Amino acid sequence: MTTADKEVFNPIRINAETCIKCNLCDWICPGDLIYKEEDNRQTLPVIKYPDECWYCGLCQTICPTDAITVVFPEQMVRNKTEVITLLGKVAE
Ligand code: SF4
Ligand code: SF4
Repeated sequence: MTTADKEVFNPIRINAETCIKCNLCDWICPGDLIYKEEDNRQTLPVIKYPDECWYCGLCQTICPTDAITVVFPEQMVRNKTEVITLLGKVAE
């Protein structure tokens, strides 16, 4: 299997039943990963670049119908590194 064939994990799950196609998730995503046809209230948003998501959660937070769930990959959930170690600072 080549790198190109590798399946990309999509952390953004959209519930097609509850999505009202409002376009807010497309609007707010800081990485511009979500694409939604702006003037078309029939189409669902599409996650164009799932591997570029940085899990900020803004799309999930802004969604008016709770149609979005951000799913963390297993490796992130299992990572026990404390934030303080990553930042290299000690809280006072
Ligand atoms: S913000 Fe929620 S309801 Fe609006 S288009 Fe995105 S997923 Fe659908
Ligand atoms: S979690 Fe953040 S970066 Fe990822 S798709 Fe949602 S808004 Fe964009």
